[in-house]
Amino acid sequence: MIAERWAQLRAEIPAHVAIVAVTKSQPAEALEEAIAAGVRDVGENYLQEARAKFDFLCGRSPELVEGAFTKHFIGRVQSNKAKAIVETFDVVQSVDRIEAGLALAKAAAAAGKRLRVLIQLNISPNERYGVRPEEAPELARALRQEASLTVDGVMAIGPLGASSSETARAFEVAAGVFGAVGGTVLSLGMSGDWREALRAGSTMVRLGSVLFGPRAAPARV
Ligand SMILES: *Cc1c(COP(=O)(O)O)cnc(C)c1O
Repeated sequence: MIAERWAQLRAEIPAHVAIVAVTKSQPAEALEEAIAAGVRDVGENYLQEARAKFDFLCGRSPELVEGAFTKHFIGRVQSNKAKAIVETFDVVQSVDRIEAGLALAKAAAAAGKRLRVLIQLNISPNERYGVRPEEAPELARALRQEASLTVDGVMAIGPLGASSSETARAFEVAAGVFGAVGGTVLSLGMSGDWREALRAGSTMVRLGSVLFGPRAAPARV
């Protein structure tokens, strides 16, 4: 089932656009199935949940976890969890304030690692997190002073339950900020709005329910 949905989505979404499979609240077996189907980018919102699944997968086949796929953290960054986040993930898409970015930078430097991060924008009235679009370039500038970070673009969550044209307008704002921030990744688009995201120039969509089916417990960040 996951393999069929993956093939269908991969056929519809241009090859230059990365698809992050969002496995939050899905069992580890779903992640395993997705990797077998060809998924190469995985997104998780919660540290403990992600670790449990990656450990499970590692127990099954260690070669699957080491370098077989890129692990994206897309949840709220708590500064006191920075070390564990850096140990567990390759990319942190959800940096929306300087304290969180600096905590990640410090943890990455201590681990001798260079961490890729995206600046999370707030482009929606019903979204709690994300930096205001006008403040994003300054945050990116500040974090680019950190040798252990690569600020590689921006991420945003579209307005929930909005019309297609409202969504398109919000995504245009994100695309404009991406132009100002620079980098290679515009992470825009989820199950309900990836088509609008592609029209706005998204280079990376984050898909959960459209790939894995509905989540057991709705988890929103
Ligand atoms: C849950 C989540 C997704 C995936 O949501 P779907 O609507 O199931 O595709 C993508 N990005 C973030 C930041 C999320 O929290």
